[in-house]
Amino acid sequence: MIICLRKGATAEQLAEVVRRIESHGCRPHVSQGEEETIIGVIGDTKRVDEGLFTELPWVDRAVRISRPYKLVGREHQPRARVIKVGDLRIGDGGLTIMAGPCSVESREMILPLAEACKAAGAQIFRGGAYKPRTSPYAFQGLGKEGIRLLAEARERTGLPIITEATGNHHHVTPDGSLEDETVLEVVVKNTDILQIGTRNMKSYGFLEEAARLTGERKVPVLLKRGESATLEEFLLAAEYIVFNGNPDVILCLRGLRAFESARFLRYSPDIGAIAVLKHETNLPVVFDPSHATGDRRYVRATALAAVAAGADGLLIEAHQEPERAWSDGQECITPAELARVIDEARAIEAVRSRETVHPG
Ligand code: PEP
Ligand code: MN
Repeated sequence: MIICLRKGATAEQLAEVVRRIESHGCRPHVSQGEEETIIGVIGDTKRVDEGLFTELPWVDRAVRISRPYKLVGREHQPRARVIKVGDLRIGDGGLTIMAGPCSVESREMILPLAEACKAAGAQIFRGGAYKPRTSPYAFQGLGKEGIRLLAEARERTGLPIITEATGNHHHVTPDGSLEDETVLEVVVKNTDILQIGTRNMKSYGFLEEAARLTGERKVPVLLKRGESATLEEFLLAAEYIVFNGNPDVILCLRGLRAFESARFLRYSPDIGAIAVLKHETNLPVVFDPSHATGDRRYVRATALAAVAAGADGLLIEAHQEPERAWSDGQECITPAELARVIDEARAIEAVRSRETVHPG
């Protein structure tokens, strides 16, 4: 059960709700947001009557939640959660474009690319400084230096930054020494949105730590769907983040591991999941057509399909010289191709109807 207090409820009024929950042998979980205070009732709520709370004039509603994900579901909050990043409002019915390279490679590469992505119409610049690579021999990212370069790109262009933290460990630099702060600490202090990658979607301890740190600093989290995770597992991973202190979660679909051979599609684009997630949750849903296909020839078609299906945003990999990229070059598009995709995506955004796409 979820109990929502009316705006302006006092600490004493909250304490009374907590007392009533505890007197029934349950545990309260209080989330104090800017807009409202929500108390989750944890434990056996079968014998707890909603009336016990709704009789209090400062309680707005008490709702029984049938879904396993309580806080991110539409049952509890039908209104879309709009996530503010600078002047941008992700999830307000529009389309937010995030683009940039897979990895930050050098100053000479990243600064002009950030300018080119902005000129193409990107609103948020992406780039990995800490890379989760399948092979230990592959380029692992520039680490702190990459984060510094992203900050410079943000200063140059004014675009907010999204970058990934691969864990809460100390990154090993190419000379073999350890960075002084953990990857999570470095990233959270310097980014506008924290990306949690597909491989970490089920690292529950990491989700908790990331939620706590980003919640304190009010940094939104973009959580990618695990490549073999069900939608319920995905939503429960998002629930971990909200439960542990950060309500600003953006869901990102990036393709699934299926039986298609990597020769055609590296992953299988999960376009239908956009509609499901928009129906089930109030969180924004972003689609990543680059990892979803693993092939730059299919990025445009998949991106446009995602917009038509109601995605709140796109996360696209771009590079000035894709064939020379240090990671994921096969799926990077050029800034000129990016400009075309964005123009077409905007045209679809203009004709799509939220009501038609998401019947509620
Ligand atoms: C990335 O965005 O570059 C990345 C590694 O993504 P994923 O976690 O989806 O593989
Ligand atoms: Mn990549």
